[in-house]
Amino acid sequence: MTTKVPLLDLQGQYRPLRDEILAAIARVCDSQRFIMGPEIAALEDEMARLLGIRHAVAVSSGTDALLLALMTLEIKTGDEVVTTPYSFFATAGAVVRVGARPVFVDIDPATFNIDPERIRPALTPRTKAILPVHLFGLSADLDPVADIASRAGIPVIEDAAQAIGATYKARPVGGIGTFGCFSFFPTKNLGAFGDAGLLTTNDEGIAKRARLLRTHGMEPRYYHHLVGGNFRMDALQAAILRVKAPHLAAWTAARRANAERYRTLFGDAGLGDRVTLPVEPQDRRHIFNQFVIRTADRDGLKRHLDERGIGTEIYYPVPFHLQPCFAHLGYRRGEFPHAERAAAESLALPIYGELAAAQQEAVVGEVAAFLHRSAAVS
Ligand SMILES: *Cc1c(COP(=O)(O)O)cnc(C)c1O
Repeated sequence: MTTKVPLLDLQGQYRPLRDEILAAIARVCDSQRFIMGPEIAALEDEMARLLGIRHAVAVSSGTDALLLALMTLEIKTGDEVVTTPYSFFATAGAVVRVGARPVFVDIDPATFNIDPERIRPALTPRTKAILPVHLFGLSADLDPVADIASRAGIPVIEDAAQAIGATYKARPVGGIGTFGCFSFFPTKNLGAFGDAGLLTTNDEGIAKRARLLRTHGMEPRYYHHLVGGNFRMDALQAAILRVKAPHLAAWTAARRANAERYRTLFGDAGLGDRVTLPVEPQDRRHIFNQFVIRTADRDGLKRHLDERGIGTEIYYPVPFHLQPCFAHLGYRRGEFPHAERAAAESLALPIYGELAAAQQEAVVGEVAAFLHRSAAVS
């Protein structure tokens, strides 16, 4: 008999909040105010307080938070943005959408995040920003990134879409660079009931400009100072997020406890040299949006777990420099070996907060069964 384990199950998080969430939705419906208004203002205040960042701008998605950050900084055709080749597509996609060129530098294989050592040689007079990603919920090594950026006189945009509540040297991510870009996509640690995102900054002038660009550069109505877009969050999503946000700390604690349990279970299974577990450097707090392991025969392991009803995912199978839509950038295979290897070896295991101990035991039991078997035949 096998224990089925989905990669993510949101029912356990939803059920205890169901009545409160439905009441919040009803409140918005009864008000018939769906665009901006009091729910958005309240969410922005609450998120700024929760994150410890001065300004929070509610937007339509994490992707739009990135786009709005780049537009607010007036990054455009001919400019370059230094970033990682190993992330969700939106990171590099946003750069190309404003007409700029993403310049990739390889990752630190231990953390999956941009390797600060490689940034300086990639800078040119056209570099207008550095865009680190806090992948899987672990902060990038931000001090050296911020140091390089300030010497070059350029801003840092943090892609914190997967890292809400993560810290770097006790500071919240998203508030260290000029901008933090968060996503409330349902699979993120704080998920909306659809698309939603947040742009954060400690700079008042920058926040004001971002708010203007969020609604077509319009102030007052039908007077347009800048060409912006429609990057607004729905009031319905804001109302739902206001119910969920107070629980984020407890949900994060549950994910971290599950990560600890995996560490113990993998340790007991004696798989030390065959599987690499995620690291958490001492100066950072990981929020485990994903628990990503590495192993040589990743595809074989994934097939084995699929067949036994254990959900996994490959984040991400193709690094940016090998994506067909970025062929025009002129990168070649072999150019970023650490990112390429991570794409070939990494596998995300279930880590959501409501996961039961028995389910985690089943996951590790099946990983061990596969790895011991493949050790016996190799
Ligand atoms: C999810 C994600 C985004 C985009 O967020 P959406 O809300 O889905 O648009 C951007 N960057 C990273 C690293 C992400 O994981």
